[in-house]
Amino acid sequence: MGTEMDAQANCPFCAIVTGHAQARVVTADDRCLAFLAATPAARGHTLVIPRRHVADLWDTDADLAAALMRTTHAVAALLRARLRPDGLTLRQNTGPASGQHVAHLHVHLVPRWQGDGTIGWPHPPATQPDPDAVLAELRGD
Ligand SMILES: [Zn+2]
Repeated sequence: MGTEMDAQANCPFCAIVTGHAQARVVTADDRCLAFLAATPAARGHTLVIPRRHVADLWDTDADLAAALMRTTHAVAALLRARLRPDGLTLRQNTGPASGQHVAHLHVHLVPRWQGDGTIGWPHPPATQPDPDAVLAELRGD
């Protein structure tokens, strides 16, 4: 069982925050950093991360989540102004089951252009769940 310090020592995104690893930084503020994805899904694919090491959204308090979204919103505006995409996909993976590969919270901003194809999404379950049962489960009814 690793400590948070071990996690940070082995974290490629913490290495970017501390300057021990190179990244193409798009913008930065006191709480967050935005940099180009090393293996982009599209031109301008940017990641936004908190400077503080947190593993994922479940490991994040509301205040830091709000700061992350403020920076994400600013980067979205920047991408629109500079690259003129037709759309934008936001994606945040929490946990390996979702496709999270780096265990440091990050949001993907992927500029989209008409006809550029799709980004992967889970296959729908073979049997559709009862939406009322799902709602009741979420509400605790
Ligand atoms: Zn980290």
